[in-house]
Amino acid sequence: MDAGFNEQIARYVRESLLSWLASDGTTSEYTFRIGMVLTPEAKANREEFMREYDGGNCSCHLSPPCFSCTHPGNPRNQEEDDDCWMPVLKGGA
Ligand SMILES: [Zn+2]
Repeated sequence: MDAGFNEQIARYVRESLLSWLASDGTTSEYTFRIGMVLTPEAKANREEFMREYDGGNCSCHLSPPCFSCTHPGNPRNQEEDDDCWMPVLKGGA
Protein backbone atom coordinates (compact mmCIF):
# COMPACT_ATOMS: atom_id res chain seq x y z
CA MET A 1 0.00 0.00 0.00
CA ASP A 2 1.20 3.51 -0.81
CA ALA A 3 1.31 5.54 2.44
CA GLY A 4 1.05 8.84 0.56
CA PHE A 5 -2.15 7.70 -1.09
CA ASN A 6 -3.69 6.72 2.26
CA GLU A 7 -2.74 10.11 3.64
CA GLN A 8 -4.46 11.83 0.72
CA ILE A 9 -7.63 9.84 1.30
CA ALA A 10 -7.55 10.63 5.03
CA ARG A 11 -7.15 14.35 4.35
CA TYR A 12 -9.93 14.31 1.77
CA VAL A 13 -12.32 12.51 4.11
CA ARG A 14 -11.52 14.88 6.97
CA GLU A 15 -12.06 17.98 4.82
CA SER A 16 -15.33 16.67 3.41
CA LEU A 17 -16.52 15.82 6.90
CA LEU A 18 -15.57 19.27 8.18
CA SER A 19 -17.41 21.09 5.41
CA TRP A 20 -20.43 18.83 5.79
CA LEU A 21 -20.60 19.46 9.53
CA ALA A 22 -20.01 23.19 9.07
CA SER A 23 -22.88 23.37 6.59
CA ASP A 24 -25.19 22.39 9.44
CA GLY A 25 -23.94 25.14 11.74
CA THR A 26 -23.41 28.87 11.61
CA THR A 27 -19.82 29.71 10.83
CA SER A 28 -17.86 32.83 11.69
CA GLU A 29 -16.74 35.47 9.24
CA TYR A 30 -13.40 35.63 11.02
CA THR A 31 -10.63 33.56 9.51
CA PHE A 32 -9.17 32.79 12.95
CA ARG A 33 -12.39 30.87 13.68
CA ILE A 34 -12.08 28.56 10.71
CA GLY A 35 -13.42 25.13 11.65
CA MET A 36 -15.68 26.59 14.33
CA VAL A 37 -19.45 26.93 14.47
CA LEU A 38 -21.89 28.55 16.90
CA THR A 39 -22.62 26.54 20.04
CA PRO A 40 -26.21 25.22 20.23
CA GLU A 41 -27.02 27.92 22.80
CA ALA A 42 -25.52 30.70 20.70
CA LYS A 43 -27.30 29.36 17.64
CA ALA A 44 -30.64 29.50 19.49
CA ASN A 45 -29.88 33.09 20.50
CA ARG A 46 -29.02 33.94 16.90
CA GLU A 47 -32.29 32.44 15.65
CA GLU A 48 -34.23 34.38 18.28
CA PHE A 49 -32.44 37.57 17.24
CA MET A 50 -33.22 36.98 13.56
CA ARG A 51 -36.85 36.29 14.42
CA GLU A 52 -37.39 39.23 16.77
CA TYR A 53 -35.21 41.86 15.14
CA ASP A 54 -35.13 40.59 11.56
CA GLY A 55 -31.34 40.56 11.73
CA GLY A 56 -31.10 44.23 12.62
CA ASN A 57 -33.72 46.85 13.47
CA CYS A 58 -31.27 48.96 15.40
CA SER A 59 -32.97 51.81 17.24
CA CYS A 60 -29.90 53.39 18.79
CA HIS A 61 -30.98 56.72 17.31
CA LEU A 62 -33.82 56.61 19.83
CA SER A 63 -32.15 55.10 22.89
CA PRO A 64 -28.58 53.80 22.56
CA PRO A 65 -27.59 51.09 23.08
CA CYS A 66 -30.82 49.51 21.84
CA PHE A 67 -32.14 46.01 22.54
CA SER A 68 -31.10 44.88 19.08
CA CYS A 69 -27.45 45.87 19.59
CA THR A 70 -27.27 44.38 23.08
CA HIS A 71 -29.05 41.12 22.19
CA PRO A 72 -26.81 38.08 22.87
CA GLY A 73 -27.82 36.70 19.48
CA ASN A 74 -26.63 39.75 17.56
CA PRO A 75 -23.98 38.43 15.13
CA ARG A 76 -21.71 41.36 16.00
CA ASN A 77 -21.77 40.44 19.69
CA GLN A 78 -21.28 36.77 18.92
CA GLU A 79 -18.28 37.41 16.70
CA GLU A 80 -16.60 39.11 19.63
CA ASP A 81 -17.46 36.43 22.18
CA ASP A 82 -15.24 33.34 22.14
CA ASP A 83 -17.75 31.47 24.31
CA CYS A 84 -20.22 31.44 21.41
CA TRP A 85 -17.95 29.27 19.28
CA MET A 86 -16.89 25.65 19.33
CA PRO A 87 -14.79 23.50 17.02
CA VAL A 88 -16.84 21.61 14.44
CA LEU A 89 -15.30 18.38 15.64
CA LYS A 90 -15.39 18.20 19.43
CA GLY A 91 -12.21 16.77 20.83
CA GLY A 92 -10.44 17.19 17.52
CA ALA A 93 -10.02 14.69 14.73
ZN1 LIG B 1 -28.67 49.70 18.09
